[in-house]
Amino acid sequence: MNKTYDVVIIGGGLLGCTSAYYLCKNTDLNVALIERGMLGMQTSSLAASLVTRGRATRPLIDLCVETFEAVSELEDLLGDKLDFNHVGSMHVAQSVESATAIAKQTEMLRQMGDHPVELTIDQAREKAPWLSIDQADYIVFNPKDGFIDPYRLCAAYMQGAKASGNLDVYQSTEVLELVKDGAKVTTIKTDQGDFVADQIVVAAGPWINTLLQPLGSGAAMAPVRSHYWITATDPLYPVTSPVVILPEAKAYARPEVGGLLFGLRDQVSKWAHPTDLPNSLQGFSFDEDYEGWTALEEAVEPFLEVCPSIGKVDIHHYISGPSGYTPDGKHVIGKAPHLSNVFLASGCCGAGVAISGGVGQSIHDLVTGQTPRIDLTDFAPDRFGDFDPYDEAFLTQCAASRSQKKAG
Ligand SMILES: Cc1cc2nc3c(=O)[nH]c(=O)nc-3n(C[C@H](O)[C@H](O)[C@H](O)COP(=O)(O)OP(=O)(O)OC[C@H]3O[C@@H](n4cnc5c(N)ncnc54)[C@H](O)[C@@H]3O)c2cc1C
Repeated sequence: MNKTYDVVIIGGGLLGCTSAYYLCKNTDLNVALIERGMLGMQTSSLAASLVTRGRATRPLIDLCVETFEAVSELEDLLGDKLDFNHVGSMHVAQSVESATAIAKQTEMLRQMGDHPVELTIDQAREKAPWLSIDQADYIVFNPKDGFIDPYRLCAAYMQGAKASGNLDVYQSTEVLELVKDGAKVTTIKTDQGDFVADQIVVAAGPWINTLLQPLGSGAAMAPVRSHYWITATDPLYPVTSPVVILPEAKAYARPEVGGLLFGLRDQVSKWAHPTDLPNSLQGFSFDEDYEGWTALEEAVEPFLEVCPSIGKVDIHHYISGPSGYTPDGKHVIGKAPHLSNVFLASGCCGAGVAISGGVGQSIHDLVTGQTPRIDLTDFAPDRFGDFDPYDEAFLTQCAASRSQKKAG
């Protein structure tokens, strides 16, 4: 017999769990979440998990600010701390172009009541003793920012959803096919039987297009490699030092248990064809560079200039995985192209932890037919017109947007 719900969410990563949380806490809809593995175990558990508010546009800032709200709300609801490390973030511009972009986002944060602080080079070095620069066009410190355990945040969204509303969670349940009649998806076929729902939220991470492409729909994104390295512990990397964003080095760094976690962007980012991704990312690699040494060699030079200690310490860990990048570096949140009852929470562009609160809020607003509180115009799933999410030229274009990314 079919299992029938008001809303079915496909995918139990951060974007599926936040969608469940916002729907359950604000409505009495019957909601089901379907996850083929275990909650939060795929892309979400791999994140470096920077959570920063300084973004290029007001809608992006709004998505992130909502995450901060969600964290404090969840802490109150669950009576437990989520250990958000509020170490702050420091944005170091070493070109006029970056300085202008960062000053613009700083101004937007000020208008919203935040208190970013401009720093001198000496003050920046005091905060991050590993930073070795003698020139900067603009440095700003945003005290509210930091990082959070992504798995814990994902679990908290889920606990919050369960505590607040009518939610059934189906783990170890794989959606095999979405069946449509005209523009409406009528049946969600899984390996545990069929589900029927008035509305469907697809938050299937980098696999999303394996469900949408057969329907002639899609999320305009490709699974593109994101990666970071973690050094051995060293006194140069105090645990209290901030997240540091270095646009010119195409790098970010933050403390990680006494070592430095740093992420670098490839000159040419690697992508995977959606159908080539295994169900579990454990052990998955985009190429034969399993330990990341080649990638490090190719991208480290500009970072080494501002962090020479990296050349001397041991590198202990390498983490890589797919993030869903779009051609314009903006997310995919809204109604699925050519489908009437399907909403997409996708195109994370390497920021799914930071934007998770705003995505959950927006999915709630869309599903309940309210005017979204956050302006979603820039994230409209149909903004690229018709595209083929399996086309190589399209996938390459998405990967290029990661290579060009300078923000955190
Ligand atoms: C190396 C790396 C570093 C990152 N660093 C940061 C960072 O610093 N800050 C930040 O904000 N973000 C960061 N990210 C991005 C962040 O991890 C993602 O944006 C976020 O996890 C996306 O969550 P999701 O729910 O979309 O995807 P996922 O966590 O992958 O969840 C999707 C879920 O859908 C399930 N699923 C897929 N297909 C089906 C199906 N057919 N049936 C049932 N279930 C299905 C999967 O099993 C999976 O659990 C990073 C990512 C990587 C890889």
